[in-house]
Amino acid sequence: LAHASSGQAKRRVGIMGGTFDPIHHGHLVAASEVAWVYDLDEVIFVPTGRPVFKLEKAVTNAEDRYLMTVIATASNPKFTVSRVDIDRPSITYTIDTLRDIHRLRPDSELFFITGADAVAEILRWKDANEMWDLAHFVAVSRPGYSSSIRGLQLPNHSVDMLEIPALSISSTDIRKRVAKHIPAWYLVPDGVVQYINKHGLYLHREDY
Ligand code: ATP
Ligand code: MG
Repeated sequence: LAHASSGQAKRRVGIMGGTFDPIHHGHLVAASEVAWVYDLDEVIFVPTGRPVFKLEKAVTNAEDRYLMTVIATASNPKFTVSRVDIDRPSITYTIDTLRDIHRLRPDSELFFITGADAVAEILRWKDANEMWDLAHFVAVSRPGYSSSIRGLQLPNHSVDMLEIPALSISSTDIRKRVAKHIPAWYLVPDGVVQYINKHGLYLHREDY
């Protein structure tokens, strides 16, 4: 890992994509750990519009997911949130996210952060060959999933694997808990619990 710290060094910017339905401490620890290990100056959280992997599922409206992401990240000076995916009318593909963030941060070196379960799918998708020119990929460990990039044709050094503190938390589990009135405190930031309750999210959904 090149820890460049000279004045002329490029800004190092992480991109944490996700449905964030809702955002939880697994996402935040992943972003924080990659920021530390890769000496990032910023991590941009990018809530998806219509996620290509979840077309058949109901997803909470983008504005609620965006606002929960803002609430969860507001206290971290390095964390920001981008609307590029939710404002794009079409289905979310990672290549479009990378192109848009590259346009917004033209002089930055980009690091796309993904969990062990999502990395293989992303790499199989649209224009994957062009993604290597736009970003490094960091696949973080996730309890219950072994990273499944073995067997994919990848350029050397295009995807790093990083072991992070294991948090066995998923948005699916949180949605189920809320629907059954089981507490979600400490799985997500306090403000997100309060946002979910204030807006009555996840109470009446049958399709998880
Ligand atoms: P869902 O259950 O709805 O799929 P999720 O918990 O998987 O939600 P996503 O928004 O799908 O959350 O995930 C965004 C990114 O964060 C993905 O790359 C995913 O692999 C990663 N991620 C999610 N939870 C964790 C976790 N507990 N540890 C490490 N990475 C995670
Ligand atoms: Mg997921």
